[in-house]
Amino acid sequence: MPRLYRFTAAAVLLAAIVASAPATARAAETLVVYSARNEQLIKPVFDAYTRETGVEIKFTTGDAAVLIERLAAEGKNSPADLLVTVDAGELWNAAQRGLLQPVKSATLERNVPSHLRDPEERWFGLSMRARTIFYSPQRVDAKTLGTYQALAQPAWKGRLCLRTSKKVYNQSLVAMMIAQDGEAKTEQVVRGWVANLATDVFPNDTALLEAIAAGQCDVGIANTYYYGRIVKERPDFPVRLFWANQGSGGVHVNISGGGVTKHSRHVAAATRFLEWLSGPKAQAHFAAVNMEYPVNPAAAVDPLVQSWGRFEPSLINIVEAGRLQPAAVRLMDRAGYR
Ligand code: FE
Repeated sequence: MPRLYRFTAAAVLLAAIVASAPATARAAETLVVYSARNEQLIKPVFDAYTRETGVEIKFTTGDAAVLIERLAAEGKNSPADLLVTVDAGELWNAAQRGLLQPVKSATLERNVPSHLRDPEERWFGLSMRARTIFYSPQRVDAKTLGTYQALAQPAWKGRLCLRTSKKVYNQSLVAMMIAQDGEAKTEQVVRGWVANLATDVFPNDTALLEAIAAGQCDVGIANTYYYGRIVKERPDFPVRLFWANQGSGGVHVNISGGGVTKHSRHVAAATRFLEWLSGPKAQAHFAAVNMEYPVNPAAAVDPLVQSWGRFEPSLINIVEAGRLQPAAVRLMDRAGYR
């Protein structure tokens, strides 16, 4: 009887191993990503990873705030292994709410500059986006341009276009200005911007750039990839790019980036995927699909993007864009920036 029992126990154990092995293998070969980055910007890169490693990537795209709420609501039952967003402010929010876990990886530390990742390693920049000054070469001498702050001077009265302060991009820009200059000085600047507006704020960067081209205003602030999308179609588009704050803090840069979810059941596989995304080849691809900049300095830059020249970026850690976001929103409201 004891002998039979032993046999049965062993058989049950063996059966359990056999039954669970394929399931475990299958599970390790699939990762689930919640992405606020558009499908057309992530799918080609996910497909390349699948071709290279056999790991399947399932993804859901949506608004960052919605995906973050969903992660929070799902808790331990969430199928998500990774969260990918545009703008560090959103990743900061997710980390702050305990939805991401720290990842210790020498590869990520090496590939992602320290100012473009969470000091607590819960998220990492995967592409860098620059938000800078654009102007009409017909109506503006580039020599008269310098900093975001200088656009508050009376010389620009009735000549400035801005996108709405409701967009996280401008909240992050102002948050990073607070990090550099403090609240009092930044509030003065934002009040100056509002006083200089040529027209109502714009719903998006593309409309703002078109307004400069159309002569509605002479100067404005936008992300470079929106400009890239236009000049790719219309090389004679009558708007030029100016690198802001060179020698005085650098161009405001933000990221699209990602982190491993708190309740991921595939932490090792998710980490390997982030590491792969930070490598030179994936970096070049991930940045080029949206005409952004790779975070990894070893990666190639898209030729059109390269044609805009080199610039000095702000080196203040982008975590401040999240930490100071509430202060930035209150400041813009006080200053009448709608
Ligand atoms: Fe965008």
